[in-house]
Amino acid sequence: MNKIILILFSLMLSVVLRAQEKNTIPLVEELLSKMTLEEKIGQLNLPGSGDVVTGQAKNSDIAKKIEAGMVGGLLNITSVQKIKEVQKIAVEKSRLKIPLLFGLDVIHGYRTTFPIPLGLSTSWDMELIEKTARMAANEASADGINWTFSPMVDISRDPRWGRVSEGSGEDVYLGSEIAKAMIHGYQGDDLTKNYTIMSCVKHFALYGAPEAGRDYNTVDMSRIRMYNEYLPPYKAAIDAGVGSVMASFNEIDGIPATGNKWLLTNLLRKQWGFEGFVVSDYTGVNEMIEHGMGDLKTSSALALNAGLDMDMIGEGFLTTLKKSVEEGTVKMTQIDNAVRRILKAKYDLGLFDDPYKYCDINRTQTEIFTKDNRQFAREVATQSMVLLKNENQLLPLKKSGTIAVVGPLANTKENMAGTWSVATIQNKSIALLEGLKTVLGDKVKVLYAKGSNLTYDAALEQRATMFGKELNRDDRTDKELLDEALKIAMRADIIVAALGESAEFSGESSSRTNIEIPDVQKDLLKALLKTGKPVVLVLFTGRPLVLKEESKIVPAILNVWFPGSEAGLAISDVLFGDVNPSGKLTTTFPQNVGQIPLFYNHKNTGRPHKNKEGKFEKFTSNYIDERNEPVYPFGYGLSYTRFTYDNLRLSSDKMIENDTIKVTVDVTNTGEFNGKEVVQLYIRDVIGTVTRPVKELKGFQKVALNRGETKAVTFSISIEDLKFYNFDLDFVAEHGEFEVFVGTNSDDTLKTSFRLEMN
Ligand code: BGC
Repeated sequence: MNKIILILFSLMLSVVLRAQEKNTIPLVEELLSKMTLEEKIGQLNLPGSGDVVTGQAKNSDIAKKIEAGMVGGLLNITSVQKIKEVQKIAVEKSRLKIPLLFGLDVIHGYRTTFPIPLGLSTSWDMELIEKTARMAANEASADGINWTFSPMVDISRDPRWGRVSEGSGEDVYLGSEIAKAMIHGYQGDDLTKNYTIMSCVKHFALYGAPEAGRDYNTVDMSRIRMYNEYLPPYKAAIDAGVGSVMASFNEIDGIPATGNKWLLTNLLRKQWGFEGFVVSDYTGVNEMIEHGMGDLKTSSALALNAGLDMDMIGEGFLTTLKKSVEEGTVKMTQIDNAVRRILKAKYDLGLFDDPYKYCDINRTQTEIFTKDNRQFAREVATQSMVLLKNENQLLPLKKSGTIAVVGPLANTKENMAGTWSVATIQNKSIALLEGLKTVLGDKVKVLYAKGSNLTYDAALEQRATMFGKELNRDDRTDKELLDEALKIAMRADIIVAALGESAEFSGESSSRTNIEIPDVQKDLLKALLKTGKPVVLVLFTGRPLVLKEESKIVPAILNVWFPGSEAGLAISDVLFGDVNPSGKLTTTFPQNVGQIPLFYNHKNTGRPHKNKEGKFEKFTSNYIDERNEPVYPFGYGLSYTRFTYDNLRLSSDKMIENDTIKVTVDVTNTGEFNGKEVVQLYIRDVIGTVTRPVKELKGFQKVALNRGETKAVTFSISIEDLKFYNFDLDFVAEHGEFEVFVGTNSDDTLKTSFRLEMN
């Protein structure tokens, strides 16, 4: 008897002591103390929603598991009715009544869909981006979702990789700013509100640097490169208070991220102080078997011991961890820590107070895909478009005469939302043709012909049009399609060619070795140019493309990415000048695939190639068959107006440790339209104890300037902006000269310099 009392007493004491530790929650500790090992492991399990049908949830297989306490959350379930039914099973039928998390890829909007993330990044507008995430959270939460697998902050310098479309491009500074904006948008200031949802930053880490750009491939890089050039956006997300982290599929230093203790514990928790939970990517634990880490039991134990808390889909944790505990390869404390983090997330979301707080059916009817939301999505889409070329001010077009709209992307609703838009209502998106007709009314006669299929190769087209994103391959011959297009082109004053990639040409598992506009469309474009009529290329793409030829032969190119549900209206707004484009590239557009990886913030080498005209120079770092410079550099994008930069000045040419220096430049709108300009600040650390990039983005401001207006744009530089990870991975600034560049893109800047002196 005494023994039992002693055990009970020490149990209670440990609960109380735990609760007193930083960040422990009495309710969570109490629950933990009541849970069986099976129930604990159940909380670490994230299955798919499987066969849940509205009204039938309680009879589904998943319901039995939930009832038995074998599920911590559900993936990919949409619709508030279903979610409510499933939550009811958890909180009424399971022994401990623990509510579930409901996670979904709410990546660039929910039902109202914004441009793909790469497109959002080219707006360089943090307020706007934050608002898109807030609206997405609002719509998703109104439909029962409480957890999103976004933002994706993987830096990528490889446009062959299809998932470059889901991120914010190649730069860590911009990527970090966007990560913060999105997390604040999703989570707000108070996660317990029913319109905020938990964010999950992904894919930790380095997923954007697979060898040869092939998805899921091996990653291998030096620590110094990781710390300076790839990790900062993940760290920014942690510092911004993101609730969860997703481990990536790739390996790092020979160990898959899913089971990499250095990554998930030493770096993430010990160095960065992350207190939320880590979820695997889809079947990430099981995939460790193919990586060569051992069978499912070994891999699951390895992952949990490394710091992974939740197992998505594969049920390796569910089916093997108990055995591992019995065998002593997994300690109970490790399981408890993982469970504690997941229960804390549910607590932070307020689910223990009200498990149905995201299940208000009225909200579903009034807050999703509303007129206002769609209007906002239209505005956002116009801000993401990048004007790549505009010879002789061909754009904006006049609202008169006849236009011929030609191309496989001209009349497809299904492809407008782009990749990873699981909740979009495909048939409600506005295609370009429809948008033009709506915006132009009877002022302009709009003719249409498809002109070509997506590719000559039908099998490739099929692979690039999955998930219902049909392009309805035309049975007519290529010649018949082309002839029809040329016929209508001859009747028009201007040709708008809607070409490029389909939505699923980029995205997960859509890597390409050839990143040009597909062959048949190139041929169509050349035939259209041959008519002698002015041609505007409206380019749909999920990645930077090789546009070497098009940049020479096409007079005007507007890159629209995949603009989201209001695509057609937004493109028309920009083409006809109702909105002046202001997007700037966040990735480099190469001359050819052989230059990849090509990025603006490269190192100088010992034999830099200095010839700006691109002339070959033997024994310098260049190619014998191609220049080094890209077609379009990072930060590039035109406007219908012109901006000039003058009078770059510093508040001092010396910075003493704790000072800040002000950098000011005068920007004038010297063209004919009001417009917005993204003013960019870059810095170069000229001499270091390790080699430093030729230029690094350290600030930007998007300013509106009326015709003829001049604004003095000021940035402030502090020692924090000059810090980097040195050879020992200490984050330091080193004294000496710093060059400062301010301009309209990474390659077109004014330059000055200052010295940093240490006390
Ligand atoms: C992707 C993740 C996504 C997850 C859940 C995986 O295939 O890599 O980005 O969040 O599926 O849908």
